[in-house]
Amino acid sequence: MNSALSPSEDDSYASLADRLRDMNRLHRPVWVFDIDHACVCWGNPSSVDLWDAASLEDLLSRKMGDDMTETVAKRLRQYQSDFELDDQCQFQEVWTLFPNDVPCTVDVVFSGFCLDDGRMAMFCEASPREALDDEALRSAEALMHTSVMITLFGANGLPLYRNPAARSSARYADETLADHFVNKTTMQLLSQATGDEVNIVAPVQSSRGQCWHDISARRCLDAVSGERAWLISEVDVSRLKATEERAQFLAEHDTLTNLPNRNYVSITFQNRVDQLLASGHAGALVFIDLDRFKDINDTLGHDAGDLLLIEVAKRLKTVLRKSDAVARLGGDEFLLMLAPIEDHATVLEIVNRIRSVVGQSMTIHDRCISVTPSIGISLFPDNGRHINDLLRYADLAMYHAKDTGRNDFSFFTQELSDAVESRITLEAELNIALEENQFITYFQPRVDVQSNEITGAEALVRWLHPIKGMVPPDSFISACEECGLIGKLGKAVFADSVRAQRFWAEQGFKLRVSVNLSPLQFGEDTLVEDLLDIVRSENGNIDGIELEITESVLLGHDESTISKLNALVDQGFRIAIDDFGTGYSNLAYLHRYPLRCLKIDRSFIQALDSAQPIVELIVAMAKLFRLDVVAEGVETQQQLDALRGYNCQEYQGYFFEKPIDLESFTALLNRKKLKNCA
Ligand code: C2E
Ligand code: CA
Ligand code: CA
Repeated sequence: MNSALSPSEDDSYASLADRLRDMNRLHRPVWVFDIDHACVCWGNPSSVDLWDAASLEDLLSRKMGDDMTETVAKRLRQYQSDFELDDQCQFQEVWTLFPNDVPCTVDVVFSGFCLDDGRMAMFCEASPREALDDEALRSAEALMHTSVMITLFGANGLPLYRNPAARSSARYADETLADHFVNKTTMQLLSQATGDEVNIVAPVQSSRGQCWHDISARRCLDAVSGERAWLISEVDVSRLKATEERAQFLAEHDTLTNLPNRNYVSITFQNRVDQLLASGHAGALVFIDLDRFKDINDTLGHDAGDLLLIEVAKRLKTVLRKSDAVARLGGDEFLLMLAPIEDHATVLEIVNRIRSVVGQSMTIHDRCISVTPSIGISLFPDNGRHINDLLRYADLAMYHAKDTGRNDFSFFTQELSDAVESRITLEAELNIALEENQFITYFQPRVDVQSNEITGAEALVRWLHPIKGMVPPDSFISACEECGLIGKLGKAVFADSVRAQRFWAEQGFKLRVSVNLSPLQFGEDTLVEDLLDIVRSENGNIDGIELEITESVLLGHDESTISKLNALVDQGFRIAIDDFGTGYSNLAYLHRYPLRCLKIDRSFIQALDSAQPIVELIVAMAKLFRLDVVAEGVETQQQLDALRGYNCQEYQGYFFEKPIDLESFTALLNRKKLKNCA
């Protein structure tokens, strides 16, 4: 017999034949199965018959591991460790063997068997099985092999039966149903359920540690004793649960700083506000935005920006009290909920700490960087009770803090809200106004100081509001700039001006029309092409168009602005500096840029007595740089006379004419012509 064993196994099997000699006489098939090597290592003659082997050697040489499924292998390993713990334990199962691929179902009683080398094998004793019908046979097999854990618990909570999967999951043999659950409430849920079957997903204790199981529990009667019992079937859904939890975490947290995100705020902060208000407490939302964060991102790169945000998040956490919360709303915006608060002073104290911790410099990529926060605060219940309102108010207050020069904080006030409210209404109205062509372009004559002849016109837009009537541009230009409408409006005025210039030329009046360009229009990539397209489609004359820009455009030193300016000049547009003298009045740039004209701000003309030296200087400088010079806002004969004295070329002002519509301007031209002819 030993000849059938491989040499390495000699030691473990050496005494088997001796130890089991008596078994040879048994009619029942008996054999020893080496779990580690998945082979029979000893068998009596009946077992040779049962396995349909030619001889014992044939049986011993069979490699049973070859077509063994992973579940069977796992189960065998489980038995092996059970035997190692308790070599007295015995199991009985219905097995279907496949000797030479023919199924044969037997009852098998098996127990641990220690081999000569100390390894635990399995001693198996088979008895013929009463013929089961096919269905019963298959269900017994399914129960045996399924990975679904099935346990029958008796009325006292102790297990009456476990299928192999349940056995391998249980921590110990007589683990009760209540002990199986991590939370007491799970057992309560089961016992309180009214129907026959309950389905829950709950955390359980298992031999692999704590897991999540999808449990279905059914009330039934034990088939043997007739007692009431629970039939529990369970599927391990821990992986699914972990994925779900991760997804949930990601949905509610910012992956960079691990702080809760805006989503989390809108889901949970309202509850917190409600709880506090219900218990008579007050709280504050603190909206924090880092100043010039974009600059840091742009100059040091996004990596550095990310590190900075992580550091700020860390520092903000140090300011929090236990009951406070912090979230990252996105970009460089953070939100703190301070709750409860006693009074303003508590808020102020924390806000000052925020400013101090955030403001301290930090080293990022070996560079010393510092940022300052702009902070807006809303209070509940003083300012509101709903998180969305409070968030909006804190945001508004933050913008106000930014407007007042950054690195500041401000509390929300009703006036702030009203101002924003009317700004929102205005923006909505402006959108409609553009769609419905409520804007009209007026023209103000530009006149030669010496001859008093009209040399040109400045296009000045008006809004013919359906209710308010004529609205001057100072009331809406900045709103248009802020809500992104200025490009569209600017182009409409430009088109009107090109048309007017051509129209007057056709009538025999050769005028130059100047159009105001907002600095924000230089932010549009297609500015130059758009203006050229308009000139082309209106069959206009570039030579007759002057573009008025403010000093701020030149002082921005923005490469793309300067290149657009140069492109416009190359295309033949003339450039004038508007409101000259009010900005930096930096004469140095006069020769650096391709300018043609200076327009002296009307504040100087209106205060000519005191401003005379400045006006004279500007006129002289303009002459030096060969620039045309126009005085704006001339209202009196004296002012005009003075300008004549300084050798100023042109002027605009109510003294000659206010801005008027195209028709009136045309009539004016015709009147002047007649006068000139007379
Ligand atoms: P601006 O470019 O300096 O235009 C001259 C302003 O002075 C005009 O005001 C004009 O009506 C006013 N003005 C002219 N003569 C006199 C005078 O003798 N006395 C006084 N007190 N004022 C005089 P308006 O039309 O209200 O325009 C205000 C500003 O709105 C303009 O200042 C300009 O900055 C802006 N604006 C007007 N139309 C446009 C436009 O189409 N696009 C852009 N971006 N801005 C425009
Ligand atoms: Ca102007
Ligand atoms: Ca001006």
